[in-house]
Amino acid sequence: MTVCKSVPISELTARLHSCYLACADAQAAQNVVMKILIVEDEPKTGDYLKQGLVESGFVVDLIRNGTDGLHHALTEDYDLAILDVMLPGLDGWAILAGIRKAGKDTPVLFLSARDHVDDRVKGLELGADDYLVKPFAFSELLARVRTLLRRGSKASTAEFLRAADLEIDLMRRRVTRAGKRVDLTAKEFALLELLLRRQGEVLPRSLIASHVWDMNFDSDTNVIEVAMRRLRAKVDDEFEPKLIRTVRGMGYVLENPNCA
Ligand code: CA
Repeated sequence: MTVCKSVPISELTARLHSCYLACADAQAAQNVVMKILIVEDEPKTGDYLKQGLVESGFVVDLIRNGTDGLHHALTEDYDLAILDVMLPGLDGWAILAGIRKAGKDTPVLFLSARDHVDDRVKGLELGADDYLVKPFAFSELLARVRTLLRRGSKASTAEFLRAADLEIDLMRRRVTRAGKRVDLTAKEFALLELLLRRQGEVLPRSLIASHVWDMNFDSDTNVIEVAMRRLRAKVDDEFEPKLIRTVRGMGYVLENPNCA
């Protein structure tokens, strides 16, 4: 933090306190340990999900067939299960039915390549809590996961992320800077959330792409640069200090001046 000469001690204390709160918030958001079961036979999707969720601070078991998936769901304690529909062994519906038959109310999020309304209705009738169609952006999955976990447990998860006078409210999906409302698109919000969660860390484009875009993202485009420019125009252009920085040849970083 920058401290100019002749700052009254009360102000210094206040600044240190707000720095502590902001940094503690960011840490608290990363330290919520919840356990998630993924049952997905498609290697690329399974690995993509597991990596993203582990990087977001969850403990993850990835199982690649339905029979073992149900066994895990019944014998372990998960805060959430993410189930593919088409699986070798038992399909996702059978796993869900098995979980509910055993009297477990583990929240279940279905993944499916088939975006038929029938599937969605069937899943919800069987007691699924949400349904996501592939391919999806990791950020969208993460938002759904967070909503389900919040609904499913009384555990208090951090709902705000802050850096300096920038604040995002994860639950209401609202952003303010210096108390002023900033309107972001879903992609911009996901970008900003990622930068805030990993503040101080230089994030390579590949990591940003895998979190904010879906796994079939074409890395030969300048989509990330364009989105980042728009985001900075909204959260940084009219404010000081500037928080988001390009690190040439490496990626992007959000620096919290209070935590430097
Ligand atoms: Ca499958």
